[in-house]
Amino acid sequence: MRAQQAVDFQLDAIKKRSLCNNCTENCDIDFNKITIFQKFPKHCRYRFWQEAALNLLENKISKDIYEKIQTIEEKRKNYACCKCTSCCRLASSEYSYEELKVRAENGDEFSREFVSIFVPYNNIEEPKKVYPEYIEMLEKEMEDISKLHFYYCPKLGEDGLCSDYENRPDICRVFPNNPLVSLPEKCAFVEWKHEVEITALTLHALIDIIGFYKEKLTEALK
Ligand code: SF4
Ligand code: SF4
Repeated sequence: MRAQQAVDFQLDAIKKRSLCNNCTENCDIDFNKITIFQKFPKHCRYRFWQEAALNLLENKISKDIYEKIQTIEEKRKNYACCKCTSCCRLASSEYSYEELKVRAENGDEFSREFVSIFVPYNNIEEPKKVYPEYIEMLEKEMEDISKLHFYYCPKLGEDGLCSDYENRPDICRVFPNNPLVSLPEKCAFVEWKHEVEITALTLHALIDIIGFYKEKLTEALK
């Protein structure tokens, strides 16, 4: 809600520069009920408000968000993988293996890389044996853990090292690049997640709101 209020505040501020100048459109707009998403006559000054709002969303606000995402990524550099191997031995996805393969065939790059290395566990008992604390944590975080599918990578050697390190895909190289994913407690990036999680949640909400506003404003300006 705070994210939406922040956007609304900025859009209201620019409205003051686009008030009605009694043009000759002879409209019947009710000034007490104006919303930024309604359609205005072609020469109406409120269209300037909409155009300025769209410009603000596409430029300044989007740039602010980009800079904050950069800051989150910069903070990640303060942490280094401790090679606990949790992410190789126990990956999870909302998608089944078959669904991931279909997504990969349809061009989803993440799914393509995922199915290129990970294979599914046969049942929930197998990952529970591998890392019981992590499964317990997910059970507490999620309403229904049966919606998750668990995977492991056979390329992890008995020595705890990746047997194909030079050729590992990008999803391994950048993990974890999203502080909103659930991380096992052993992961060295848990502290980073705690440090930036609230900012990341706010940005996530803002990106959704901006997408919605841009779509509605573009429609109103047609
Ligand atoms: S390819 Fe290597 S780094 Fe990636 S999940 Fe498998 S073992 Fe881990
Ligand atoms: S779970 Fe985190 S610390 Fe452990 S191997 Fe993966 S990235 Fe490194």
